[in-house]
Amino acid sequence: MAAVPDAVDVAIVGAGTSGAAAARYFAERGAKVLCVERRALGEAGARWINGITRAALAEAEIELPRSARFGEPHPVHLVSDAGRVVVRTHDVIDADMRALVALLQEQALAAGATLVGETSVLGRDGDHLVTDAGRVRARWIVDASGLAGARLLDQPLVGTEHLCAAAQAVFEVRDLDAARAWFAAAGIPPGEIYARLGVAGGFSILNVRLHDGGRTVSVLTGSIPALGFPSGKAILDKLVRDQPWIGARVFGGQGAIPLRRPYDRLARANVALVGDAACQVFPAHGSGIGAGILAARLLADTLARGGTLRDYEVAWHRRWGGLFAAYDAFRRWNQTMAPAQLDDLMSDGVLDEAFARAGLDQTMPRLTLGALPPKARALRRRPGLVPGLARVAAQVVGAHVLSALYPHSERRRFSAWSRGMARVLAV
Ligand SMILES: Cc1cc2nc3c(=O)[nH]c(=O)nc-3n(C[C@H](O)[C@H](O)[C@H](O)COP(=O)(O)OP(=O)(O)OC[C@H]3O[C@@H](n4cnc5c(N)ncnc54)[C@H](O)[C@@H]3O)c2cc1C
Repeated sequence: MAAVPDAVDVAIVGAGTSGAAAARYFAERGAKVLCVERRALGEAGARWINGITRAALAEAEIELPRSARFGEPHPVHLVSDAGRVVVRTHDVIDADMRALVALLQEQALAAGATLVGETSVLGRDGDHLVTDAGRVRARWIVDASGLAGARLLDQPLVGTEHLCAAAQAVFEVRDLDAARAWFAAAGIPPGEIYARLGVAGGFSILNVRLHDGGRTVSVLTGSIPALGFPSGKAILDKLVRDQPWIGARVFGGQGAIPLRRPYDRLARANVALVGDAACQVFPAHGSGIGAGILAARLLADTLARGGTLRDYEVAWHRRWGGLFAAYDAFRRWNQTMAPAQLDDLMSDGVLDEAFARAGLDQTMPRLTLGALPPKARALRRRPGLVPGLARVAAQVVGAHVLSALYPHSERRRFSAWSRGMARVLAV
């Protein structure tokens, strides 16, 4: 266990994507930074392939090395029992998180941050971070320790009905002809992405894609076991058992993803939350890489400009709170859907390519006037969707309005805001 310094400007808990990014951005802005990670540094954070938007990478000023990315965005076939939506163009690339974490840690070190692995944060004592290697005085403390981390703000536990159990792994392809035949049987052209929805409940996915010209296959799964469904790992294991063309596992992992909208409070006293620790995860598909990195950057920028942790909370909620709360409303409806309802959503253009693309790209869809008549006709044929859609539409509007009004003042106005948001979203 390495020694920790006595005092720093910023002490960061966790050296995964959010924490390593925070270490980099704070150090680049001239702060004296300590980042403490309980695993070995080379084992921190996500250790599998994740999708991330090129827009997030560009805004974060991250240039992924060629070896860490798996080509350009490929068409995605979203498939339910009887429905299909093909998203031909979108902004999501597959990236090796082991390489992204290593890159961010290298950039943090190069900017002058101190990173210490195999050291656990035990808690906070006023302006001291307490670790099992000693105490560190810090002007600011950043909790980037993920869902099961240090919980320095006693964040409420995430209800199990809002936890996605996900798994992702890369395997060798043992028999390329058989692999191609499997994709062809599902109607997926070579190299494109099979994303089967509703494999285990309304909010669940089996996403399969060939990499490296068919030498390897990447499988991503996720579901909500608390609703009575098999976990992402169980779905993945079953696919591998059932498909003899899938060979030896190369790498991968599994974990729980918080799907609930980000916490109303992202900071208190001298502590700020970023990443999964703040539930800054895009709820529609449990994507937290870009969100955590951009939150880390916003936090570092805000404090470097002389702002406060409160300014960070306000800026985050006003920019992203509405988007995340809106997609959380959709996610909560989606996870209650039976297969037939999912088919309805995926048929006749109710969920069309533009809407699905917006979801993948983590933006709000734009509903043009021209799109309204076909949508209205589609909904007349699928009346069972109308109550749920109407409720989500109202929640989307309410969430955006309230997020834009996230109050700068603490106490009474904030409590009223928080209650209002909970009422709008019915949670
Ligand atoms: C299988 C799977 C697939 C996913 N796919 C995608 C995807 O395609 N796209 C996407 O954007 N997101 C995806 N996600 C979500 C994404 O991986 C997370 O949102 C992201 O890793 C969160 O990053 P983080 O740095 O906030 O937290 P973490 O990655 O959890 O890192 C937290 C770090 O803090 C350390 N830590 C914890 N407690 C302490 C302590 N007390 N002291 C010191 N250190 C501590 C941990 O060891 C860890 O290294 C997926 C998740 C899973 C499980």
